[in-house]
Amino acid sequence: MEYKIPFNKPYISGNELTYISEALSLGKISGNGYFTGMCHDFFEKKYGFKKVLLTNSCTDALEMSAILLNIKTDDEVILPSFTFVSTANAFVLRGAKLVFCDSEQNHPNMDVTKIESLITSKTKVIVVVHYAGIACDMNKIMKLASKYDLFVVEDAAQAIDGFHVNDLGEKKPLGSFGDLATFSFHETKNIISGEGGLLVINNENLIERAEIIWEKGTNRKAFSNGEVAKYDWVDLGSSFLPSEMIAAYLFGQLENLDKIQRKRRELWENYYNKLSNWAVKNSIEIPFVPSYSSNNFHIFYLICKEENQRNEMILHLGSNKILAVFHYQSLHKSHYFKILHDERTLHNSDKFSNCLLRLPMFYELNNDVVINCLLKF
Ligand SMILES: *Cc1c(COP(=O)(O)O)cnc(C)c1O
Repeated sequence: MEYKIPFNKPYISGNELTYISEALSLGKISGNGYFTGMCHDFFEKKYGFKKVLLTNSCTDALEMSAILLNIKTDDEVILPSFTFVSTANAFVLRGAKLVFCDSEQNHPNMDVTKIESLITSKTKVIVVVHYAGIACDMNKIMKLASKYDLFVVEDAAQAIDGFHVNDLGEKKPLGSFGDLATFSFHETKNIISGEGGLLVINNENLIERAEIIWEKGTNRKAFSNGEVAKYDWVDLGSSFLPSEMIAAYLFGQLENLDKIQRKRRELWENYYNKLSNWAVKNSIEIPFVPSYSSNNFHIFYLICKEENQRNEMILHLGSNKILAVFHYQSLHKSHYFKILHDERTLHNSDKFSNCLLRLPMFYELNNDVVINCLLKF
């Protein structure tokens, strides 16, 4: 079917294409050149991240994390079941055992009160996912991690420009809590470069090795800086760094981050304000933002009262040529996980798998059409 309103649409916010041709004129389109440096500076200055490295995807950054934390066979990793496969795959690739934590009742983020009972002597890392850019309860998670001496990785794929807010109202950027954090610039996220990602290294002990893993396991950086005489293979690694053309596109977006976020805020608030009463009447839940989180306006979702209602709504929108989509089949029920481990019961995660519906959300959207169509449902 041809949709009048797609779910997502990639867009140009300003100088993206000009910067791609500039990268070519600079005579270097492989990785770690001028625009990669500009992007790195942006993140380090704007959010105070200690060290960042652009990657080809958030998936890449998660895989780098698992290598950096020396994840080995039988190490246990605690993570939510309601997440994208990459959160899990990165650690399974290193032989880890997955231990899924259920979502909260009123939000897809993991339920912090259920984490402690999942920790064993084999637990090595807690991977949190800030779903829809809404913060997990990081104060509690960081306390648990230090009590049991665990690493924390933030899958902040959706959380660019999202913040955790403490009791005093002070904001701290998501991605600055964990030993490591990962962001995505996939075309469905707020800030895009087609495919693209970022690894944030907050734990200083991991920085030097991160740069080696990023450059295929070589000491290329030390060699370029004249610190070693030979360019050698020194560790595990892969080709995690993106081309300068990706970095150039990304920098064009980063320059307009505030403008992009303002537009998403308008869209999100328009949905929220005009659908609130309608939602109550139809027993549908709309997004909940806890007091310890800001909103980065990544996703506007509905939680239908049951799977049937969601199916009917998708058909209703579809017959008006509007595409709404759902996501994350709980990983604990996935085909692959069931080969690896016994199935568990995670009620809240299953509820979001069956009932959550994402409405169209992109920079050039006029969402009144979507809203008017829903009001007739
Ligand atoms: C999008 C997403 C990813 C994967 O990002 P890529 O850049 O496509 O690899 C991982 N985790 C979460 C929670 C995501 O939303």
